[in-house]
Amino acid sequence: MSLIVQKYGGTSVGTPERIRNVASRILETREAGHRVVAVVSAMAGVTDNLLKLAAEVTGDGRPTEREMDVLLSTGEQTTIALTAMALNSMGASAISLTGAQAGIETDGVHTKARISNITPSEVHRMLDEGHIVILAGFQGRTPEGRITTLGRGGSDLTAIAMAAAVDADLCQIYTDVDGVYTCDPRVVPDAKKIEEISYDEMLEMASSGSKVMQSRAVEFAKKFGVRFEVRSSLNRNPGTLVCEENMSMESVVIRGVSLEKKQAKVTIEGVRDEPGVAGRIFGAVSDANLIVDMIVQNVSKTGITDISFTVNEADLGKAKEVLAPVLAELGPDASIEAESGIAKLSVVGIGMRSHSGVAAQMFAALADAGINIQMISTSEIKITVTVSEAQIDEAARVMHKAFGLSGEVAVAS
Ligand code: ASP
Ligand code: MG
Repeated sequence: MSLIVQKYGGTSVGTPERIRNVASRILETREAGHRVVAVVSAMAGVTDNLLKLAAEVTGDGRPTEREMDVLLSTGEQTTIALTAMALNSMGASAISLTGAQAGIETDGVHTKARISNITPSEVHRMLDEGHIVILAGFQGRTPEGRITTLGRGGSDLTAIAMAAAVDADLCQIYTDVDGVYTCDPRVVPDAKKIEEISYDEMLEMASSGSKVMQSRAVEFAKKFGVRFEVRSSLNRNPGTLVCEENMSMESVVIRGVSLEKKQAKVTIEGVRDEPGVAGRIFGAVSDANLIVDMIVQNVSKTGITDISFTVNEADLGKAKEVLAPVLAELGPDASIEAESGIAKLSVVGIGMRSHSGVAAQMFAALADAGINIQMISTSEIKITVTVSEAQIDEAARVMHKAFGLSGEVAVAS
């Protein structure tokens, strides 16, 4: 008898019918002779709604963090009860457990707590008694007993971490898409489902826009070697297996293309090329909790250089605001230029490590399509460029074709 951890996301449990659908799938797994722990999210829209309510009752939009987690955890608590009830009405024996009851202990950083320890004795006891365990995602408790939540999308983390803690034979992440795709199918209609992807590729895809799963959950899976499948709760199609890399994975140069729209570029011109300058710029930006990416600094010839970086378009105003007071310290003629309406395009693949010429092929294909590259950055398994947002969809299709992801390889002339 194997032990299977399943996770069903908010859309999969979004309505009473869908909860019944999930319940019957869980029951099917149980009737096939397996022991099941099913992690569920809040019903679609519920967490957002709770956040809205909190903002409304506080006026200043700054609810106390402790109460925020008491509030947010109710979304998942609703779903576990409903799912267990649905199963019991089908003749199964299911019991619900909150994160705290299941022994998920976290640090005290409310709304984005980290799991510090899992003592799954209650989970084991319930399984041993023959129950199906329905576990609330996204939540835990501090050693002092305060309720915490694990950050948006945190039910993924609950599932992966519980799979590691109970040493599950299989971990399945059920969502509303069939798996991880070579590119967003809304942009590239012939994008294909990826059968197998490495943790690192999955993380790079996520960091450049392809959000199928919470990145922290994937990092956790990598650290503890939890293999998992991403698949749809709405059909029977096989999904994508996420696992450690293997030899055969390297034969594919590019696993996928991802894109991220609504980006902005900030350039600070006329900054002195001396120690501490970058520290001051990014110190100011990080003090404001803004996330920056694609930092580029030019080589200076005259002791003066410029530094560019990207931020989410929504953070642009704030970035300009926090940088204005430090400008004078950066150089006598330092100035800021900001541009919105840009997008990031990335190609990702561990095969890049053993194949040369990927960058050249990428840039040539974009040039052939008349698409101008503004900034470039690379990691060992990813190349990212920024282009005008107006051209990003076209750029993604060009990349997808150039690297043969649609099954059609463009031959370089
Ligand atoms: N309900 C939480 C959220 O919406 C956690 C989750 O769905 O994974 O972020
Ligand atoms: Mg979710």
